[in-house]
Amino acid sequence: MNTTHRIHELDPLVAQRIAAGEVIERPASVVRELIDNAVDAQASSIVVQLEEGGMGRITVIDDGIGIAAEDLPLCCRSHTTSKVTTLEDLYALETMGFRGEALYSIAASAKVTIASRHGDANPATIVIDNGREHELEPGGPDQGTKVDVQHLFSAIPARRLFLKRPATESTMCRNILVEKAIAFPSISFRMYESDRLKLDLPATTSKQRVLDALANDKHLIPGETTELSDKASRFELHAVASTPACYRTDRSHIKIYINRRPVEEYALVQAITYGYGEMLPGGAFPYCYLFVEVDPELVDFNIHPAKREVKLRNKAEIHHQVVVMIRRQISKSIPRLRIGNSPPPAQGRFEDFNIGHSSGTLAEPTPPYVHKPIAKMSANSGKPASSDWLERAKQVLEDSKVDRPVEDSREEPDFIYLGQAFDLFLIVQRGESLFMIDQHAAHERILFDQIRSEGGVQRLMVPLEFEVERTVDEFLQTHTAWYADHGLELERSDDLVWELSTIPALWRPIEQQVVQFISSQSTGDLSELEKCLYATIACHAAIKDGDHIDANTAEALIRQVFLLENPVCPHGRTFVVEITRDQLWKSVGRIM
Ligand code: ADP
Ligand code: MG
Repeated sequence: MNTTHRIHELDPLVAQRIAAGEVIERPASVVRELIDNAVDAQASSIVVQLEEGGMGRITVIDDGIGIAAEDLPLCCRSHTTSKVTTLEDLYALETMGFRGEALYSIAASAKVTIASRHGDANPATIVIDNGREHELEPGGPDQGTKVDVQHLFSAIPARRLFLKRPATESTMCRNILVEKAIAFPSISFRMYESDRLKLDLPATTSKQRVLDALANDKHLIPGETTELSDKASRFELHAVASTPACYRTDRSHIKIYINRRPVEEYALVQAITYGYGEMLPGGAFPYCYLFVEVDPELVDFNIHPAKREVKLRNKAEIHHQVVVMIRRQISKSIPRLRIGNSPPPAQGRFEDFNIGHSSGTLAEPTPPYVHKPIAKMSANSGKPASSDWLERAKQVLEDSKVDRPVEDSREEPDFIYLGQAFDLFLIVQRGESLFMIDQHAAHERILFDQIRSEGGVQRLMVPLEFEVERTVDEFLQTHTAWYADHGLELERSDDLVWELSTIPALWRPIEQQVVQFISSQSTGDLSELEKCLYATIACHAAIKDGDHIDANTAEALIRQVFLLENPVCPHGRTFVVEITRDQLWKSVGRIM
């Protein structure tokens, strides 16, 4: 320790180790930097070998362009790089590396051996032992580069204290490899741990790479994974993402890559969740690997030693485009219900199934669904308390039948309505699948579509008068024309007092709710306002959950549901669930 408090120059080795701390924190940082170098060397195959979670040894082998023998002593010195020369180069970066610090930092923290061959020249090898450079020696690989890093931090015991158990460090190395591999699907990646192959990712497409990398993730369903893309003048977007049929309860699989670098860019994570919006239930998050290719002039990675952060000059524009891309391209298809992942029991091992006796450790079975034949059901329900809603529903459904081709309504349905479950779900057999339809959401959606397309506006004999708050009053004064376009003629009869004099015919039964809606809106983007208006109306007029529904009404509703392209309710929620025959058969072990 310097006790004189006088300024002096640091011993170069000490300075080097201090600087190295910023870049190399643990084995995973070494893996990250060495993979980056291999990628920059245009490798088509990268192999990572670990011993003791990388604390004993990390070896990275690539088949890239290699390092010329005369450059080998240079590559481990401070600020040496082949990737940038001038400051301007930083703004036209095509490579992962540019700081020229990685090998220097690694060489300051471990015993590093680099063996490489560049073109047809003779291969050569150099050893740098914790900052001490040895003589260049002949010999090395036939192609590419092999970097071997032994005993990381052995000369810096304080740093070793911060490392975790080998298994944990190994997992971190693996995560880094996977993260990189996802950005470079055309490169094959393999990881060995003490000679055992732990991960094998052959060169493939972008989507398949994500699927391969997440092969152990039981939540991700390959058939529910899709690719999205979009373009703007100075950036391009590409994403591998899940449909709303599969999701997680955390954001851990929303990943952002900017120019193929994984970055922590929360604003874009938000753009993704915002894009999915109500297509996913509350608290659910998609799988989404978003790759943004931006004009290098608009990005600056030189703000974080490990390049995890980025400055984006056109962030707002990218944010907007991500939302638009997801909303337009993620299809709100019918989700398939997944039935238990466990394989059917092997022959002769019935005891595993606890047949005939209940086991305290097993969850109580859910009561079986009781099949109610249509005839019995309509007899039972008779005339289900002929409430307003039913009349309205029938009316709307009858009306809408008229709109459809006559053959269509006379045609035998191509489904069998099996009955209603839990006073909410209509159970339908169609083709090779069973469908469960949320009656309220389905009806709401049908009404929503009708309300939107319906013309007939009625003049009210006595205008409906209502009073509003100041903010609403102001909003209405500037938006009377908009409401009139939607069949709602409004007039200001006094300060804060308004009169509604026309209303679309279909909305008559719920005119009070319409007035309530008008008197509660004081802000908003107009397309949003329109959606809200229709959704509110459809929601009020629709069959509620808990309502009994007779077979004819159900069938009429189901017919319309099957005509929809996107079965989502006006709020964006999916309301049809499908179980295929195959899934059912498999779930009872009839087919493997
Ligand atoms: P940077 O990647 O920022 O340039 P590094 O310290 O990681 O800095 O590497 C220094 C230089 O060594 C690189 O610019 C590159 O020329 C060379 N190099 C490092 N690893 C490899 C490799 N695997 N294949 C070919 N060249 C390499
Ligand atoms: Mg580098």
